Amino acid sequence: GGTIGILGGGQLGRMLSMAAAQLGYRTHIYAPEESGPAADVSSDWTRGGYDNADALLRFGACVDVVTYEFENVETAAIEVLSHSRIVRPGVGALKIAQDRLAEKSFVAGLGGATAPYRAVNSVADLHDAIAAVGTPCILKTNRFGYDGKGQVRIADAGEADAAWDAIGGHPAILEGFVRFDEEFSVILVRGEDGAVRFWDSAANVHRDGILATSTVPAGAAISAQVDTARAMARTIADGLDYVGVLAVEFFAGEDGPVFNEMAPRVHNSGHWTIEGAITSQFENHIRAICGLPLGATGLAVPRVEMRNLIGDEANHWRAILADPASHLHLYGKSEARPGRKMGHVTRLVFP
Ligand code: ATP
Ligand code: MG
Ligand code: MG
Repeated sequence: GGTIGILGGGQLGRMLSMAAAQLGYRTHIYAPEESGPAADVSSDWTRGGYDNADALLRFGACVDVVTYEFENVETAAIEVLSHSRIVRPGVGALKIAQDRLAEKSFVAGLGGATAPYRAVNSVADLHDAIAAVGTPCILKTNRFGYDGKGQVRIADAGEADAAWDAIGGHPAILEGFVRFDEEFSVILVRGEDGAVRFWDSAANVHRDGILATSTVPAGAAISAQVDTARAMARTIADGLDYVGVLAVEFFAGEDGPVFNEMAPRVHNSGHWTIEGAITSQFENHIRAICGLPLGATGLAVPRVEMRNLIGDEANHWRAILADPASHLHLYGKSEARPGRKMGHVTRLVFP
């Protein structure tokens, strides 16, 4: 028993809280919002800003260990908490993973393949970067982007000024466009003792910049690259002395896996593990941050298909339940805005 503090109260916090409860832990959420998907299933909720050191310290005093479901937390918040509490994953991992430029330089420094990239801090930089990287390319804000937000594609150098305005002139990275047929993720969990376990890699399909489906097992093109990608992901995790679940997104490129981005947390492309793996990413994250032995990560069934329910797709939940092999997950969000993740469905395929 004990209490796990979680920064962020969205659907990832909800599913972490459910896994924690199963293991006999209470969870206490800290988030800037009044409420959220994690509120229904957690023991306590403190509303506070990530820049409010006093509120963070009071929250820290109520919990035994701190984790986060959201990497756009000010690192100062984690630093404040780290003085009195164990924070897992640590502040080093968060600093790198919340900044696309830091993340790409870190991975390139470890010998990983990335898209060609340049730092962009002004429109003049952007023109130079386009000349260096070539077109087509993608301009992404270094921070706060998710679900394809904060990024714009550039087909021609003439679009530079409009692209810079479109991302609001924030510090950014320009990436060359990687040619790939498929995308996949490596999700691993690393324990307190440095032991690492990998889940099977899902083939991920995005629509409108948002993850649409994750399917396991992935096809031959991805399977051929998983070992190399896992070695990269393990090097990243070891280099950060990481504890918890780490997700690394890759493109299956013509010459092997190309690193796209990482998330220092449980990940949407791992939701299938709740029913489809022997131990879910949520349970193993809780086990890891609490210093417990890790559960097996193998497939529980031969094939698993996860589909996100975006916007009003969640209205069709009755039809989903009519399929007895499908598990429905709704996040309890009241407003089905377009592009909003309202839930997901995991379909187990077995003989
Ligand atoms: P997430 O919701 O996964 O955090 P995000 O907003 O952080 O997404 P990215 O993962 O950087 O965004 O990009 C979203 C998608 O855009 C990728 O999954 C990929 O399909 C495409 N994409 C991004 N960068 C590149 C690139 N350099 N070359 C080709 N396609 C890219
Ligand atoms: Mg991202
Ligand atoms: Mg991504």
